[in-house]
Amino acid sequence: MTQPQPAASAELRTEVALAQLLDPVREELDRDPDDIKAQLRTEDRDYLDQIGRHAITIRDAADRNDVATAERARVAITQAAQRHGHRRAAITATHAELPSLLDQLLAAVDPSSDTGGTGSASPAAHRSALGIAAFDLLRAIQRATGAPDHTHLDHALRGWTGDPATVEEWVSKARGILSPAKRWAMPGRCPNCGRGTVHVPDSTGETVRRLALELDPSTAETHCLNCGTSWPPARARQLEAVLRQQQEEDAAARRHAVRDGTR
Ligand SMILES: [Zn+2]
Repeated sequence: MTQPQPAASAELRTEVALAQLLDPVREELDRDPDDIKAQLRTEDRDYLDQIGRHAITIRDAADRNDVATAERARVAITQAAQRHGHRRAAITATHAELPSLLDQLLAAVDPSSDTGGTGSASPAAHRSALGIAAFDLLRAIQRATGAPDHTHLDHALRGWTGDPATVEEWVSKARGILSPAKRWAMPGRCPNCGRGTVHVPDSTGETVRRLALELDPSTAETHCLNCGTSWPPARARQLEAVLRQQQEEDAAARRHAVRDGTR
């Protein structure tokens, strides 16, 4: 019967939690399959256009015995093929590697210090709220580790041997701050701007289509990703009634379309 020493187990917990804070984050991407197909079609078309242009250059250069130009065009084709492969891989990727939670917090506090993107596809008002929460957490970590400033946090954390519960709390707070993306999309068109969907960059910078209306479960507030109008909980019923009416109208319109189509 070997039981781990309590001290060793606490050390291990601290180490695991620190790794969660400091290692790159692997995130599953939530993409619309139709958008992926559309992006692939555009990419393939652009690629074929490029190849076609280079092929013409090579043919014309060969006619003039211009070896150097033909060679440059051949190199350009090789490069275009490589880029095409990378782009296709990026478009069809199911996971993205994001910066560590710590780096994402730092980037949220200072968006100009680009550490590879924070995955923040949110409007400015939301980003500042995120920045404030991130700043508070970073300050707590700084105080606990004795790091002189934010730039030394990574280093200070790597050697840190503090209470595991504290680090685990940082990890869970960081995740809470950085992924308010667990908002609920609401089907329907925004009563203010009329948009049902919006195109926004996802965590990798790829443009994705999302429903325009989102409910934030933490505040019970719904807002439109397109025009920024928000509905506080007090107006939730009113919004719900509007959306329900839309659904009924849409269903009626579909029934008409089917009837007209089969006539
Ligand atoms: Zn709107």
